[in-house]
Amino acid sequence: MCKALSERLGLPVTYLNDGNAAALWGHFTIFGTSPRETSISAIIGTGLGGGVIIGGQDLKGRGGFGGELGHVLIPYQSIRGVEGMVPQCNCGRVGDLESVCSLTAIGKTFLPYFLPKYPDHELGKMDIPAAAKLVRGMAEKGDPLCREIFRVQAHALGLFFDEMINTFDPDALMVGGGAIETSQEFQKWFLQEIRNGMPPQREEQAGIPIHIMPNGDTAGARGAAIEALRIARQNGRL
Ligand SMILES: [Zn+2]
Repeated sequence: MCKALSERLGLPVTYLNDGNAAALWGHFTIFGTSPRETSISAIIGTGLGGGVIIGGQDLKGRGGFGGELGHVLIPYQSIRGVEGMVPQCNCGRVGDLESVCSLTAIGKTFLPYFLPKYPDHELGKMDIPAAAKLVRGMAEKGDPLCREIFRVQAHALGLFFDEMINTFDPDALMVGGGAIETSQEFQKWFLQEIRNGMPPQREEQAGIPIHIMPNGDTAGARGAAIEALRIARQNGRL
């Protein structure tokens, strides 16, 4: 597609998925155009996107599937309070990051799992898809069931970031997406719960920062612009 469009336009064309593009923006806001640092971003939306930035660029891989972080398996069974839960992802896997950390996971797995434990809960009287959309706001207000869902999601991210730390030894980790478009207080709590969910780190890596992705929904568009600029420069267009 890129090649055909490029021939048609007579301009270089590049492609990133939305998660990869947002990861590039997040990286840029911290490290600018420096090629030295590595960062890993997880974007929690309907699914889970993200990216790995190395050398100032998205890791794309052989066929462009690099940085498909949502389908990386995590040892979710080690999270407290989810005994017997079977988180199924739309990709067919059980227990990958998206199967636990996404809006889809809230409707598909968490509400059916937790609602029977809270028999009088108001979300139990609603359609699951409608109820799923209310979980974030109710978690922010301190509802115990909804907080518990977000705690499990944060701990899942902690397990995932631990895998990334041991694979890439990154300079920064980032979390973005609709799930954390909340008050600063809730964001702070969520980041602390990610840390609480991480296995102990070696001393040298314990201080790797976890940031909130800035600019919400527009992070992907901003990252795409940065990628376009890079490709244009590379091709002597700027
Ligand atoms: Zn999956």
